Amino acid sequence: MGLLSGKKAVIFGVANEKSIAWAITEAFKREGAELALTYANDMVAKRVRPLAESVGAELVLPCDVRSDAEIRTVFGEIGQVWGGFDILVHSIAFANKEELKGSFLNTTREGFAMALDISAYSLVALVKEAAPLMQGRRGSVLTMTYYGAQKVFPNYNVMGVAKAALEASVRYLAETLGPDGTRVNAISAGPLKTLAAAGVSGFNQIAGHVEEKAPLRSNITQDDVADSALYLCSYLARGVTGEILFVDSGYNIIGL
Ligand code: NAD
Repeated sequence: MGLLSGKKAVIFGVANEKSIAWAITEAFKREGAELALTYANDMVAKRVRPLAESVGAELVLPCDVRSDAEIRTVFGEIGQVWGGFDILVHSIAFANKEELKGSFLNTTREGFAMALDISAYSLVALVKEAAPLMQGRRGSVLTMTYYGAQKVFPNYNVMGVAKAALEASVRYLAETLGPDGTRVNAISAGPLKTLAAAGVSGFNQIAGHVEEKAPLRSNITQDDVADSALYLCSYLARGVTGEILFVDSGYNIIGL
């Protein structure tokens, strides 16, 4: 029996085999979950479809989270095929590359709105449609954040603001869904080489600093995040909601 045997999980945010969402998908598969994956657009579909096939995902659906219509279609389809489901993973973020370098004052009104829409509001939009399908199943919602929500990191800029909104949304959603038994948590992951990280200027410098200063003196891996995701989405974390769990080799506890 796996930790997630008999559970159905919908995972948003696989772009390629380096994606945090992909490591989570593999861990969930290993522990017996049935899987549905979504992908942002046709460009990533080419990579995601074979990956989804390799884990026997029952559903592979397009979903640009800027579109309420696409979100409704996804959960409509999931409702038809599965009736309901237990786990929702949101592993999505986006901001203009030009706004992830240099001065925070270069943030535009449009760039700010887009980063907040895709990286923070999308969690609320997904949960809104998912909640009726998760009702009464003691399910779990999980999203991905970064320490830049709480402290200032060079170049992280508007994404730090978006992650702060995301972390606050986790707490409000946890309170909203709690009476029904659904839990909502986030993992605050240390730096990982992925497509999203490539958009943040000076990423290598941050990773080097973590390796030197974090209590564990190493960077984390996607699998480290996936195993913590497994815990948060399983029965083992039944008493945990509204939390931000740091998976960062302990970096966040260091003052100097
Ligand atoms: P990734 O690029 O593999 O994943 C980001 C995903 O967001 C991609 O699948 C992309 O297609 C999706 N996406 C972007 N715009 C979208 C849209 N409009 N609609 C639907 N999907 C959209 O990179 P990742 O590092 O695995 O990022 C996953 C999450 O982890 C993000 O929230 C990121 O901020 C967070 N995170 C990453 C790191 C890191 O260092 N890589 C650290 C902490 C937190």
